[in-house]
Amino acid sequence: MSFDLLVRNANLPDGRTGIDIACRNGVIAAVEPGITAEAKEIIDAGGLLVSPPFVDSHFHMDATLSLGLPRMNRSGTLLEGIALWGELKEILTVEAVVERALKYCDLAVSQGLLAIRTHVDVCDDRLTGIKGLLEVRDKVRDYIDLQLVAFPQDGLFRSPNAEKNLLTALDMGVDIVGGIPHFERTMQDGARSVARLCEIAAERGLMVDMHCDETDDPMSRHIETLAFETQRLGLQGRVAGSHLTSMHSMDNYYVSKLLPLIAEAEIHAIANPLINITLQGRHDSYPKRRGQTRVPELRSHGVNVAFGHDCVMDPWYSMGSGDMLEVASMGLHVAQMTSRDDIRYCFECVTNHPARAMRLEGYGLQTGCKADFMLLQARDTIEAIRLKATRLKVVKGGKVIASTPARTTRLELPGRPATVDPAGYAPVES
Ligand SMILES: [Zn+2]
Repeated sequence: MSFDLLVRNANLPDGRTGIDIACRNGVIAAVEPGITAEAKEIIDAGGLLVSPPFVDSHFHMDATLSLGLPRMNRSGTLLEGIALWGELKEILTVEAVVERALKYCDLAVSQGLLAIRTHVDVCDDRLTGIKGLLEVRDKVRDYIDLQLVAFPQDGLFRSPNAEKNLLTALDMGVDIVGGIPHFERTMQDGARSVARLCEIAAERGLMVDMHCDETDDPMSRHIETLAFETQRLGLQGRVAGSHLTSMHSMDNYYVSKLLPLIAEAEIHAIANPLINITLQGRHDSYPKRRGQTRVPELRSHGVNVAFGHDCVMDPWYSMGSGDMLEVASMGLHVAQMTSRDDIRYCFECVTNHPARAMRLEGYGLQTGCKADFMLLQARDTIEAIRLKATRLKVVKGGKVIASTPARTTRLELPGRPATVDPAGYAPVES
């Protein structure tokens, strides 16, 4: 019995070592030590980490790689970012959106990022972003799972045609209902928008992913309404709350009531560490708040927490490279999640947890899963985050779709080794 691809001697994220992974017809056929059958292609992992691919459950692909268009964000705030995006939206073309998004997808694949949920602004009567990204979703179908969220950036009620455009976008094939309750004119309008959007999702059998309480205002409590509406409409497990940064600033007593409500409604919490740490706390003098939602506390209440990249070189964030290990690293730093167990958890926040939030099918390294994975230049998940390890091979459907040479440096120092390999400085932990 012959396989299409056999990976030998891999370490897995769960701590198992010396494992072989055999793939046939695009599916993982066996995961065990010492597989002896023939294979058309063999990869020797050499005791390095093989992981399921990275998953980004929160991104803005209609804006990515547009940095400087039509100008830079001078204040660095969320609100100037939204205003700047408004200026750019006027001059967007479908072709430009497609070109930039495809470029970003190439970068994503090179980093082992093979599933992305992107919010797409519908507050543009031409629906330029939607048209562009529907085309991109089709073009990248064979190598990236791209989910589109109809996102009323300027507010469902605040922006005159938002609801009409959102419904049109859903009719055109957009997958998920988005929202931005904290940007509506009043708290009441925010709550009404959550209810209306959840009803639209329930009527159409869709998932919900809302920008929710992306503010330092501790009184921004739309997550409470989102949890309530999720329960009322029976949407448990199909709703995500993105950002949830106001929770950082909320009163502890209130949070102790809120966390069980979020858990009960099975809402997925998506933090965006790189963006939250740069956009929140901008109105503070010192001390400056971090603004990231309460990740360890959500975790301890059994809430599924994912970390998203959110932005790469756009009106809100001038940095970023599509590297989910950078996202995980920032997440663990900002949340002070520095125990060995915590760091492993942060790796899950850019792999299994977002896959669960996005309800990806066949994701993982078990027999029967899709043969999608990557080989990293690190021996375990902790080392992977610490080194932002090179993705040596990226495999999709049992075929290598990207390779990067290992990072090694030649040393010209008398009496010292000739090369430095960044991996292998700390013991492997299981
Ligand atoms: Zn966002």
